[in-house]
Amino acid sequence: MATALRQNANRVVQFGKHPASPEDRTDDNPWPEFPMTFKLDYGYKEGLEALGEDPRKYEILTQKFEQNDDGQVTALHTLNVEKVYEDGKLVTKEIPGTEQVWEADLVLIAIGFLGPEQEVLEHFGLKTDERGRIWTVDGMNDYRTSEEGIYAAGDARRGQSLVVWAIREGREVAEQVDQFLSKKESKQVV
Ligand SMILES: Cc1cc2nc3c(=O)[nH]c(=O)nc-3n(C[C@H](O)[C@H](O)[C@H](O)COP(=O)(O)OP(=O)(O)OC[C@H]3O[C@@H](n4cnc5c(N)ncnc54)[C@H](O)[C@@H]3O)c2cc1C
Repeated sequence: MATALRQNANRVVQFGKHPASPEDRTDDNPWPEFPMTFKLDYGYKEGLEALGEDPRKYEILTQKFEQNDDGQVTALHTLNVEKVYEDGKLVTKEIPGTEQVWEADLVLIAIGFLGPEQEVLEHFGLKTDERGRIWTVDGMNDYRTSEEGIYAAGDARRGQSLVVWAIREGREVAEQVDQFLSKKESKQVV
């Protein structure tokens, strides 16, 4: 967001369907848990200073996009939502009459890790698990996939994770591939 403003975007708005975090810890978020409280990180602070308002808009749901004849996005249609308890469950409810139209030249959707793109996996006939990740032999202890000679590592296998895991897995999978290829080579020599 701050990068877009530094690159001369006229306006940047960030939508989220959740309410803003409270200023103080709630009873169900005691110390030493990570505090789920309102934060103004440097990017948002920069946005606030440049735009005169917090770029984050809470409890907003995008319903549809508008496009021009060239297929480029031109606007978003949103509706305000609220969290309410229904039959003891916390649900997100739309608030009728709160429709808004926001003009936009660029929309970036950042709604979480949904797993690796399935097209390539389908092409190679790779098995996936219930979360759409590449299935490997023996869970997280092996890098062999369901197809001989195809290995998987990193987020595509582990799911949304950390760089340290990606580095470690990159090294380990390289070793496993090396063993596989060395065996194949020695068989060919014999
Ligand atoms: C917004 C965000 C913030 C993060 N912050 C942190 C953090 O602060 N600290 C931390 O430790 N981790 C962080 N992570 C997680 C970290 O980035 C990942 O865990 C890590 O990058 C995974 O490495 P990877 O090599 O498995 O996958 P990736 O880094 O995703 O690499 C996969 C590569 O494969 C390429 N690719 C995909 N499909 C194809 C194809 N068909 N053909 C050829 N290439 C293809 C992609 O372009 C990409 O370059 C963050 C992730 C995100 C999204």
